[in-house]
Amino acid sequence: MGAVFITGGSRGIGAACVRACAAAGWRVAFTYRESRAAAEQLAAETGAIALRADMADGAAVARAVTQAEQALGAIEAVICNAGIAEQKLFQDLTDADWQRMLEVDLLGAVRTIRAALPGMLHRKRGSIVTVSSIWGQTGASCESHYAASKAALIGLTRSLALELGPSGIRVNCVAPGVIDTDMNAVHSAEIRAALAADTPLGRLGTASEVADSIVYLCSSRSSFVTGQVLGVTGGF
Ligand code: NAD
Repeated sequence: MGAVFITGGSRGIGAACVRACAAAGWRVAFTYRESRAAAEQLAAETGAIALRADMADGAAVARAVTQAEQALGAIEAVICNAGIAEQKLFQDLTDADWQRMLEVDLLGAVRTIRAALPGMLHRKRGSIVTVSSIWGQTGASCESHYAASKAALIGLTRSLALELGPSGIRVNCVAPGVIDTDMNAVHSAEIRAALAADTPLGRLGTASEVADSIVYLCSSRSSFVTGQVLGVTGGF
């Protein structure tokens, strides 16, 4: 098991990925934006290294990947998890709202992959996992910029799977349904109950259930899987 680079690892699905990858024997580097205390605590708990990088800052992302390679050796897997969500009517969304969403949810992944790719191309080996959303597949009312960014991530994933497959690099996507993290803490108890009721398995998913699928896609157990979008949705 080599080194894995995870974006947005200080909480939620990213933190679950840090824990699951460390438990599976990966050497782990993860980024955080602001939550230094939480990141340092998670690093101490798992033996991972925590690196500060805002996904909207290309130089910071590239620097974090270089620091991870220097500390842990060749990066064998990348998990593009960092993301933001926002609920607004389409007609209330400004250019700035669209730009912020695309900067983090789409270009953050682009920048991370671009920084980690030279090493993977050199070794002709690697696994990249993007974290989209079921809303990127179905569309989402009052979240058009989020859904559009997440749909774009699926296009990016499938395109890179075609482009990088001949170089031995696999690229897959996980599309979670409604997962019980801080991202959904904005919803009222009624809305969360309605979302659970709309989910065939009758509940929200957990961050670690998403992380387990991501770890599978990073690992050699999925060595003939590329260009796929794996729904972790409870059947939603
Ligand atoms: P979360 O809000 O708990 O965590 C998001 C993470 O992204 C945090 O660690 C945060 O620091 C990081 N992040 C946000 N903006 C950043 C920036 N500019 N630079 C660096 N890091 C930044 O949310 P989560 O539920 O753990 O979501 C993780 C991923 O899963 C996101 O991409 C999200 O869109 C996706 N997702 C979540 C759900 C869900 O129901 N929770 C469903 C589908 C997809």
